[in-house]
Amino acid sequence: MKNIYLNVYKSNLANMQKAKKSVENNDVIGIPTETVYGLAGNAYSETSVKKIFKLKKRPRYNPLILHYASLNRLKKDAVINKSFIKLYKSLCPGPITFILNKKAKSKISKIANARKKTIAIRFPKHKVARNLLKILSVPLAAPSANIFSKLSPTSAQDVVDEFNGKIKMILDGGSCKIGLESTILDLTSRPTILRQGSITQKKIEGILKTKVIVKKKVNRIKSPGQLNFHYSPGLPVLMNKVLPSKNGAFITFGKKFKNKKNSFNLSQKGNLKEAANNLYKTMRKIKKLNYKSINVCVIPNIGIGCAINDRLKKASFK
Ligand code: AMP
Ligand code: MG
Repeated sequence: MKNIYLNVYKSNLANMQKAKKSVENNDVIGIPTETVYGLAGNAYSETSVKKIFKLKKRPRYNPLILHYASLNRLKKDAVINKSFIKLYKSLCPGPITFILNKKAKSKISKIANARKKTIAIRFPKHKVARNLLKILSVPLAAPSANIFSKLSPTSAQDVVDEFNGKIKMILDGGSCKIGLESTILDLTSRPTILRQGSITQKKIEGILKTKVIVKKKVNRIKSPGQLNFHYSPGLPVLMNKVLPSKNGAFITFGKKFKNKKNSFNLSQKGNLKEAANNLYKTMRKIKKLNYKSINVCVIPNIGIGCAINDRLKKASFK
């Protein structure tokens, strides 16, 4: 039973079974998560994983995040440590990805983790992703469902726009609750945040009761997902501005910015969570409206504001 858009399916029982079959056939499908939509395939299958890289035009050196239904299943693939267990108990399922050492006997495709000794793993909270993972017997490799270095999709329609008929099935799970990619935390040595997200440094420090490092700049080309250029709407973005430029759009935040022509407020009431949720949606809208550039006002660099500024910095990289 198809939905109004081509290849978009309602997440009912029959379609979940269809999705399961697709994954078992080593096909790639679009799935909703609470962060952004993912392009998902069997993480144990080289065929599936190769398809993901090809569709996304993603360089092979950029490893994928692997998604699990439960801790029990993860134990086959990853070396578990105490910090991980603490964080798992209070934050999972949820919008946080952990870097752990890969077990030598793990069946994860070597291409999925770019032949590294480590793997990135996550337990998504969105019920469609969770239910699919529960009925599958394999983990899902699922990077964001966008072409490499572009904006992540936050609705099934965004995935359609991105891949236009190139994937056979997209499960519709509505608009993503968070709308920004997961926090990535490396737990293979001193806890280090590799990518900021809605789960903040402060929150993690509170649980681990230890200092957590935030990696500012990734200098090794080996972690290109954290490259300086990324999350690009496909038009120039300039940060910390007070006005729009000529023919440009202006992204604002908070009460002091009135609703004006060419102006797009991420949160009139000044709520950073709401702003994070609106960021990609707003940039996609601006692009569709054919603006030639985006100026963005100052966004407070606190809480999830740090993740918003991180994405904006990368989107504005020239
Ligand atoms: P995405 O494509 O949006 O799902 O982003 C995945 C992110 O996870 C990228 O920034 C990758 O570089 C990062 N990542 C995946 N696996 C690893 C790993 N083993 N070590 C470090 N970063 C990783
Ligand atoms: Mg991505």
